[in-house]
Amino acid sequence: LDLRAGWTPAVAAFVVAVAYYLGARIGFALTFSPYPLAVLWPPNATLMAALLLIHRRHWMLVFAAVFVAHLLVQLGGHVSFSLCLFWFATNCVEALIGAGCILKMLGRAPDFGRIADVSVFLFCGALLAPFVSSFLDAGCVTLMRASPTGFWDLWRARLFSNMLAMITLVPFLLNCAYRWPGLIGGRLPERPKEAALLISGLLLSGMLVFDVPPQNGVLLGLLFLPLPFVLWTAMRFGPAGSGAAFTLIAFLVIWGSTHGRGPFLTGEASESVRSVQVFLTVFGATLLLLAAGVEESRVSARRLRSSEERFAAAFRHGPHAMLISRKASGMVLDVNARYLSLFGCGREAVVGRTIQELELKPGGDGMGMRLHPGHTPSGEYAETAALAGREVLVASEEVDLEGVACLITSLQDVTEQKRAEESLRRSDERFRLVLRATDDVIYDWDIVGDVLWWNQNGDIFFGAMSDPRPRNFDRWAQSLHADDRQRVTSTLMALLNGTDSICNAEYRLARGDGSHAYVGARGFLVRDERGRALRMIGSLHDVTDRKRADEANQRLAHVSRLAVMGELTASIAHEINQPLGAILSNTDAAEILLNEKDIPAAELRQIIEDIRNDIVRAGEVIRHMRALMRRRELAMQSFDLNRAIGDVLNLASADLGRHRVQVDTEFGPLPAVYGDQVHVQQVVLNLLLNGVDAMAALPNDRRRITLRTQRIEGGWVGVTVADTGPGIASEQAENLFSSFFTTKPDGMGLGLSIARSIVEAHGGTIRAETAATGGASFTFTLPGRPGQAETGRTTKDKEKEKENDNDNRNGCTCGG
Ligand code: ADP
Repeated sequence: LDLRAGWTPAVAAFVVAVAYYLGARIGFALTFSPYPLAVLWPPNATLMAALLLIHRRHWMLVFAAVFVAHLLVQLGGHVSFSLCLFWFATNCVEALIGAGCILKMLGRAPDFGRIADVSVFLFCGALLAPFVSSFLDAGCVTLMRASPTGFWDLWRARLFSNMLAMITLVPFLLNCAYRWPGLIGGRLPERPKEAALLISGLLLSGMLVFDVPPQNGVLLGLLFLPLPFVLWTAMRFGPAGSGAAFTLIAFLVIWGSTHGRGPFLTGEASESVRSVQVFLTVFGATLLLLAAGVEESRVSARRLRSSEERFAAAFRHGPHAMLISRKASGMVLDVNARYLSLFGCGREAVVGRTIQELELKPGGDGMGMRLHPGHTPSGEYAETAALAGREVLVASEEVDLEGVACLITSLQDVTEQKRAEESLRRSDERFRLVLRATDDVIYDWDIVGDVLWWNQNGDIFFGAMSDPRPRNFDRWAQSLHADDRQRVTSTLMALLNGTDSICNAEYRLARGDGSHAYVGARGFLVRDERGRALRMIGSLHDVTDRKRADEANQRLAHVSRLAVMGELTASIAHEINQPLGAILSNTDAAEILLNEKDIPAAELRQIIEDIRNDIVRAGEVIRHMRALMRRRELAMQSFDLNRAIGDVLNLASADLGRHRVQVDTEFGPLPAVYGDQVHVQQVVLNLLLNGVDAMAALPNDRRRITLRTQRIEGGWVGVTVADTGPGIASEQAENLFSSFFTTKPDGMGLGLSIARSIVEAHGGTIRAETAATGGASFTFTLPGRPGQAETGRTTKDKEKEKENDNDNRNGCTCGG
């Protein structure tokens, strides 16, 4: 008894003592007067049931409580105290033998639903314990001369009454205890109507047989009247039901007999008692075994059924399509729901047909055929096959079903899986090919784990042999050029901590051989949902060659300016010489005036004024020269183009004059122009000097250059320099603006290419054409406002312009 329902050992012991006392009272009540022995002696059975239920460590408590109950029972009945003690001892011995042996053999209280447990109980509890203890009991009584009856009579009487008590009460009490919480909860038995019917049948038949006056002469055959009801209980209500039914019958039999009724009163009281005892003992023992047998087969049938149901459910609702077929004929016996849904067919289309008819086509590995009759699968195998357009993985196992060799086949749909594998393979291959096809170094930086991966080109860039590829951020940062490191790492850190996902940068990176390469780096940041940077993937493009070319171009532009300046030196010297000469003669004149008596202050002031003007002019010339010679970036600002061109004409006037070139200007009203004034002036100067060169062969009076400025649509400004020279030969038109293209023996071929670079840097275009009247005409455009270079005129506009020009003139253009 695990003392359920919160019973403490003390409460349990108390309950046992009360049951013991009541049992004794019932025992006394069920004696055949005048025969002194009880037909059935409940206290010992109660004690044995209690020992089976209560843990061994509380047994002493139980014995103590029961001893009190025993004294109360016996001392009221004029029995000597010592006999009372002996009886208590023999009762305890009997319960101890029974419970001890049962617990020893079973390790627990018996389960009356098992034949083995019932057998152990019958042998140890119902036979061995009363058998042994009755010797003690009868011996004591005989020795103390407490009974007129002989030893063997006493022994026999006690043995039978105790056997009957054990068989009748122990199973009943144990079954009640097993179901104790249910019993007090007042739970009705299953099938209450059937139970009520049975109880009424039992009561009625019992009373009819066992509670009738003996002189009525009960037919012996009628003894079996309650039997169907008892068997019915055993079959339908298990050991507990049949135990209760038997207890009821036993009570009726004993009650009837002790009250002088029933079929067992055959004369001698002792014989009647024996007859009742034998009848009930045999009946009870048989019933116990029968109920256990029924219960066992019911439990095993239930187990079998639930296991069958489990397997049937596993087959029917399994995640894979399954099919059972006869091995010999290939006939399909059953398929599951997944099979039908996978292949979209009805059961009748499969069951009853053969595997061959299902057209299971072998996959690449020759599978499918092996399921056909004559191909014995050696155990389990799995290969792919195609069935009704699906690719399936087939696994089959040979089994014996009711003596017939069958195959259980599972078909796992792997169509999607195969597709996914194929697409994965392709994308993998594509990725590898892309990595091979590109010249760029591709990197993948796991920011969290700080691991850098490089593609094959990384080996080439960094050098594969000694594996110097930077594998983490620090190593990579060390490879940066010292001048770039701070800038690049801080930009990168700002990017990681910011929200942008794309980064572009240009920096120098150490190659494997120690030299530095210029790389254009691109990167894409992968962030988690909280915006934390996890990974960066991108490429490094080696731009060293472009960088070098740019630098060379810059140097070239500088050199070309110097060359232009070389040509100008003479005229500049002349320009400066002239004001210097004027200053000298003015100072001479001033000196003479100072020697006069009356110094003419007004004249002197005029002379000083002239000197200042000449100095300012000389300073202007020098400033211009320095501006042109300085190598610098574009300094964009708004300026007055007409004035700037006027300055250029002033600068070149000496040269123009020397070559007898007449310059006509047609300056239109212009908005302010946005650009680098000095560079624009250089363009005009180059075009002017080219015109001068082109007209060298002409007679003096035909050397004319026209300089025209005008506003054109969209706020732009156009400048045209036209000469009267031979114009542009059509075969030269294409190369005119290319660097180093020249037709002059001492030319450098840089003037026009520089001019084009400058105009395009402003967002404008430059073109050359031969006018209908002969002579070359160069026109370039400049923006009127900041930002117009990018937005004002699109490439499309320029293309359109170019087309129009080609249509209208027999010339050539070159646009930016
Ligand atoms: P360079 O003056 O050193 O030759 P440019 O680039 O200034 O270099 O000019 C390239 C070539 O274009 C000249 O050699 C010449 O053949 C041609 N060219 C330039 N301007 C004119 C012009 N106004 N008329 C005819 N041809 C010209």
